Amino acid sequence: MAHYLAARVISVEPLKSYVRLTLEAPSIAAEMRPGQFVMVSASPEAFLARPFSIAHVDGDRISIVFQAVGCGTDWLVALRPGNTTKVLGPLGNGFCLGDGDHPVIVAGGRGIAPFYDLVRRISHLSPVLFYGGRTKEQIVEPEYFERFCDRLVITTEDGSAGRQGFLTDPLADYLQKNTPPVIYGCGPHAMLHRVAELADGIRTEFSMEARMACGFGICIGCVIPAGESGYRRVCIDGPIFGAKDIRWKDLT
Ligand SMILES: Cc1cc2nc3c(=O)[nH]c(=O)nc-3n(C[C@H](O)[C@H](O)[C@H](O)COP(=O)(O)OP(=O)(O)OC[C@H]3O[C@@H](n4cnc5c(N)ncnc54)[C@H](O)[C@@H]3O)c2cc1C
Repeated sequence: MAHYLAARVISVEPLKSYVRLTLEAPSIAAEMRPGQFVMVSASPEAFLARPFSIAHVDGDRISIVFQAVGCGTDWLVALRPGNTTKVLGPLGNGFCLGDGDHPVIVAGGRGIAPFYDLVRRISHLSPVLFYGGRTKEQIVEPEYFERFCDRLVITTEDGSAGRQGFLTDPLADYLQKNTPPVIYGCGPHAMLHRVAELADGIRTEFSMEARMACGFGICIGCVIPAGESGYRRVCIDGPIFGAKDIRWKDLT
């Protein structure tokens, strides 16, 4: 049974609207597959650890890229190099690495996190990345993604970077002329639902978020409506799901 490990903080860097936290966690770095996540212990007030996609792996280090939205993430922002926190992982199923050229990746806002490592590992397949945010502050490190992608399409709702509007607009245009082997997605549920409608028979691998307490299937806190009538646990049945498995109209 996996257990929490003490991980030394290497760095905490602001990334526009987000923060990158790099931790020394050799066993997680050695085992991790793209799309998997870690539970990171937050403050004593937060009590429960919080789930985050593993963004980068570099030697014996892992990084997460996150948005500060509440007490747990605020506490992580205040960590300093040399501090330690506790980490459990790698958890979840991870992405299947595609075998066809020009896989499409769709990332909304902080949903870019699981794709840092994925693009690096599938760069030989010339991925096409659609990356959207509300403003340019939510579009981080485009030059990194350009290095590994054949094409990077940026959209912002206010037009401060890339094309103005939702990323599903250029995605719809692209899918009219191209049939990718797979669409990987991560972002707000409404965005993923629209991508699911556009995918129309194309294989999909979506990283789903849900509030989560344990990370390994015990608490049943992270269930989402999936399958014909039941529910699935994001932590151990996911976090990667095919769009067809999810009952979008029942997802709140
Ligand atoms: C598998 C997985 C991977 C994730 N990866 C990332 C990541 O890479 N980067 C990142 O920024 N976030 C990620 N998240 C979301 C992240 O776990 C939450 O933002 C975090 O737990 C919030 O903790 P908090 O104590 O700061 O906020 P809280 O005080 O607990 O909540 C603050 C606000 O955020 C909302 N919230 C909390 N958790 C979630 C959640 N899981 N989904 C939607 N809304 C939530 C609450 O409803 C509340 O409005 C991931 C979640 C899952 C399940």
